[in-house]
Amino acid sequence: MPRAPRSLVSGDVRRHNLTLVLAHLVRSGPSARSEIAAATGLTRGAVTALAAALSEAGVVREADPTQTGRGRPITRLELAADRVAVLVAQVDADAATALLTNLAGEELHRVERRHGRPMGDPESVLDVLAEVTRDALETAHRLGRRVVELPVVVFAPVGGEPPVVLADTDLGWGVVDLLGGLRSRVPGLPEIATLASDGWLAAQAERALLDGIDDLVYLKSNSGIGGAIISGGRTIEGAHGVGASLGHLALIPDGAPCECGQSGCLVTIAGPDALLERAGLTGLVGERGLAGALDELSRRIGAGEPDATAAWGDALPWIARALQVVSLAADPSAIVIGGFWAAHTASIERAFRANRPAVAEAFGRPASEVPTVTAGRLGADAALLGAAWSARDRLLADPARLGV
Ligand SMILES: [Zn+2]
Repeated sequence: MPRAPRSLVSGDVRRHNLTLVLAHLVRSGPSARSEIAAATGLTRGAVTALAAALSEAGVVREADPTQTGRGRPITRLELAADRVAVLVAQVDADAATALLTNLAGEELHRVERRHGRPMGDPESVLDVLAEVTRDALETAHRLGRRVVELPVVVFAPVGGEPPVVLADTDLGWGVVDLLGGLRSRVPGLPEIATLASDGWLAAQAERALLDGIDDLVYLKSNSGIGGAIISGGRTIEGAHGVGASLGHLALIPDGAPCECGQSGCLVTIAGPDALLERAGLTGLVGERGLAGALDELSRRIGAGEPDATAAWGDALPWIARALQVVSLAADPSAIVIGGFWAAHTASIERAFRANRPAVAEAFGRPASEVPTVTAGRLGADAALLGAAWSARDRLLADPARLGV
């Protein structure tokens, strides 16, 4: 095999080193060149040269010098990238949201509109999504920023090439070409728009808040039941892109038929619709939207209201069983519970631990830590933030797109 030309090799190294510097600034905020060198293992000279290139491209700038003690004032570098932005557009069961962030992940603009959940009518939902997307694009233009990443998030499985929504049960959709519909409504929509499913993004966002967790099971419910399995740092996508469809684990013997074609899926007993119906709250969905109805359900479970508590009590053993099955299949070090279930993590953990094999103790850790079970911290914004953060990571891994 011929050796790669020298310039290509050194280009790769330079790109890698630029990414190291940028990733440090994202993680640690404004930093002196010496701090960056110490943290990345690069030499002071290398950091100075890389910083000069980043500064020339407008990606970093020098912050105002700060006086520390009697020495010379320290000049720190901070992320600038004032000319670019990440735009995340999202459709959930109730609303369309557009979030504009800078490279540090800080919010520049956010707009949200209820779409009224017109079941089986993707065109009207697309109209609302196009409205918020146009609004955010206009804001980016006004701020003098070019949109360099545009992930579109749906609470449904995504597949195909180009990617389409495969089925959104919350909105009564079959296959919907959401990106195509958005393009036809938003002239000048950047070509970089991509489509992504919420569960994996939310899982990566929650993982980013944990320390050194590479093996994680994320299980959430806010719109159906979904989640992700991260193994060795990588999301298990599967051969058909529908890995970790945890809501459709067919656990319940002789269970009810599911829209997916199986029967006895977890979602048929523990999904939002099933719980709301058992708790007598189905009527609230039209009035407050799905998220509002689930907030009320969650409040009632917390308050021990009899119907809500009974509904939760019916679902809990099956949620626990799903976690037991997945834990032995994936062997995670952490389980994170998301969506409105996060508020009920303690009861989920109790049910989960009630049927754990004693083998957990053989790992030299308390059984209560094999794996840990914790509540997600990002609430309803987990997928939105996950999309913004992973878009930023893609950009940092390819500084050429920032003009460096
Ligand atoms: Zn199913």
